[in-house]
Amino acid sequence: MTTETAPPRMRIVRHPLKYRLLEVRRVTRVTPGTVRVTFGGPDLEGFCEQAPTDHVKLCFAEDGAALPVAPVVENDTWMDAPVEPITRDYTVRHYRRAEQELDIDMVLHGSGVGSSWAEAAEPGMRLGVLGPRGSEEIPFVHDWYLLAAEETAIPALGRWLEMLPAGVKVIAFAEVPGPEHEQVFETAADATVTWLHRGDAPAGSTDLLERAVRAAQLPPGLGFAWVAGEANALKPIRRHLRAERGLDRHQVDVDGYWKRGVANHDHHEGEHEHA
Ligand SMILES: Cc1cc2nc3c(=O)[nH]c(=O)nc-3n(C[C@H](O)[C@H](O)[C@H](O)COP(=O)(O)OP(=O)(O)OC[C@H]3O[C@@H](n4cnc5c(N)ncnc54)[C@H](O)[C@@H]3O)c2cc1C
Repeated sequence: MTTETAPPRMRIVRHPLKYRLLEVRRVTRVTPGTVRVTFGGPDLEGFCEQAPTDHVKLCFAEDGAALPVAPVVENDTWMDAPVEPITRDYTVRHYRRAEQELDIDMVLHGSGVGSSWAEAAEPGMRLGVLGPRGSEEIPFVHDWYLLAAEETAIPALGRWLEMLPAGVKVIAFAEVPGPEHEQVFETAADATVTWLHRGDAPAGSTDLLERAVRAAQLPPGLGFAWVAGEANALKPIRRHLRAERGLDRHQVDVDGYWKRGVANHDHHEGEHEHA
């Protein structure tokens, strides 16, 4: 495909919205800063996932409560209710239908209900899972993909690499504190993953991803760029891709997964642009 062809558009595929109360089966360390929590149970029946960025809302219990408040869902819509669950967004790292298991990779960043829960997670604990509400489907017809992520988006980066077709050119950048935080992903794509080490600098405070994306040699042909991580750090990357690289809005998906100093940042709040 060449750049003269109109870029394909992202399509949202809606799924039946369901709340599930799941039990932790296993907890493993993926890296020193990320815990993989494997949830299981028959309630996973009918769970849908199909695109790299598929994510759920984990629902956490209030302090001192054994179980989370269940969200009120009617006709596939999450309704307002007098008491709402405490929720945070997390990527579906793996779903194994036959085993009725769901893996979520949770970053330990020191504070916050999600990070604290992950730090203490052990088999037998229960947690609510709402969604995925839908999948952002982008047809895999591009000549190349530029992927860039910091830790919270590395689960989605792994999914991109695992799902992209054989032979397609992928240039990927992943920001982590140091080499011990790197991961190995399986991919059929012709992918180069470059790990960027921020050392002791706080997450979301560096311009490592921006500098890497600016310096990237992009192949000819139609491309797609996906970038996710700390919202403010991504703004100059979005500008660069659109204004300086001249990519069409349907070729760029930049998603602020969290924002420094903000609890439960809403990634739909003006930050998540395909524009
Ligand atoms: C679509 C989507 C998919 C996501 N997938 C994942 C995933 O698979 N794994 C994952 O770990 N996260 C993921 N995130 C990010 C996660 O939702 C946020 O990091 C969330 O804020 C964590 O909740 P918390 O309760 O730990 O912290 P919060 O209570 O939300 O925040 C408390 C404080 O911690 C800060 N903070 C939040 N996250 C970080 C961080 N990573 N590093 C440093 N400081 C931080 C906040 O700025 C705030 O000051 C995803 C987000 C989105 C939108």
